[in-house]
Amino acid sequence: MNTMKAVVFHGVNDVRVEEVPKPRPKAGEAVIRISATTICGTDVHIVRGEYPVRPGLILGHEPVGVIEELGDGLEQDYTVGQRVIVGAITPCGQCFYCFNGAHSQCHGPLGGWRFGNTINGAWAEYLLVPDARANLALVPDQLSDDEVLMLPDIASTGIAGAESGKVRIGDSVAVFAQGPIGLCATLGARLRGAGLIIGVDPLAARRSMAGTFGAGITLDPTDGDVVAEIKRLTDGRGVDVAIEALGRQETFEAALRSVRPGGILSSLGVYSGKLVAPYEAVFAGLGDQQIVTTLCPGGKERMRRLMAMVQHDRIDLTSLITHKFTLEQLPEAFELFSHQARGVMKVGIYPTGIPVGRRPQRETADVQC
Ligand SMILES: [Zn+2]
Ligand SMILES: [Zn+2]
Repeated sequence: MNTMKAVVFHGVNDVRVEEVPKPRPKAGEAVIRISATTICGTDVHIVRGEYPVRPGLILGHEPVGVIEELGDGLEQDYTVGQRVIVGAITPCGQCFYCFNGAHSQCHGPLGGWRFGNTINGAWAEYLLVPDARANLALVPDQLSDDEVLMLPDIASTGIAGAESGKVRIGDSVAVFAQGPIGLCATLGARLRGAGLIIGVDPLAARRSMAGTFGAGITLDPTDGDVVAEIKRLTDGRGVDVAIEALGRQETFEAALRSVRPGGILSSLGVYSGKLVAPYEAVFAGLGDQQIVTTLCPGGKERMRRLMAMVQHDRIDLTSLITHKFTLEQLPEAFELFSHQARGVMKVGIYPTGIPVGRRPQRETADVQC
């Protein structure tokens, strides 16, 4: 079979399931058979024409699958049939940016994001993985596809929000928006040992989920002055770290106004238009705050670390996968996801069939200390 099914972007609000050529790997590349993928908020921006990509591109940047074919030079490291995930960001590991630790900016601004942006993505039966040695991360046998499906993008991004914010033990943290990324940022704050974690979202269902991901207090921004309430909860100071996980001027500004002098605003959102920092929110430029931005960390070592967190029961993101579809049903899944209908958080897309059954049993060990 030299062709495969894929979901192709043809223009604004026009994605189609089509038969297209199956990719073949060149030296250093691999082809994986996709068993699970998902839809991201960024894909919604692309399909609506708010982020330009070329017509004819296969979208999707969250691949879980099995090695189908290896290009030359990979025989020592991998074998056909191994289960793998690949980060949404696929750094080369060898350019100026990679050697300077800015892997997501590989070759230049946003350059590490290739799948479904500058090269064909994961909404397909097969996916060509560039720089495979830097990017194919082997999945431990005992982890199911669903347990690792959130790792390539939203878990990596969301948790990085807390890492970039340098959350310390006992910190107070406010996370603005509790969609999938914001929930993972809330989880990241808990993992890094934050004390008070405040989850902000207008939707009751998301606020209640924020509680299970680590928020001790949740606030509804339509219900009053969130910044004043955050100040009240932090002895008038503001939080040590605020994480912005939506990409709007209002949430950016509220996050900035919520940070204490000397604190950190960690921004994960994708903004459009102009982004403004009011002078009083940065204390006329003298408040010693830091504003840091983060694009999803990728590469196989990042994926290995996230899988270790799943394997050792530190994180479980399967509750985010609220709806499941086949690849042919992807346009229907996209409608549901893009309209946030029927309580959807994330959708699972399964080109080889929707999985049945429960999560595999883990070995447990009793260790005395
Ligand atoms: Zn994404
Ligand atoms: Zn690079």
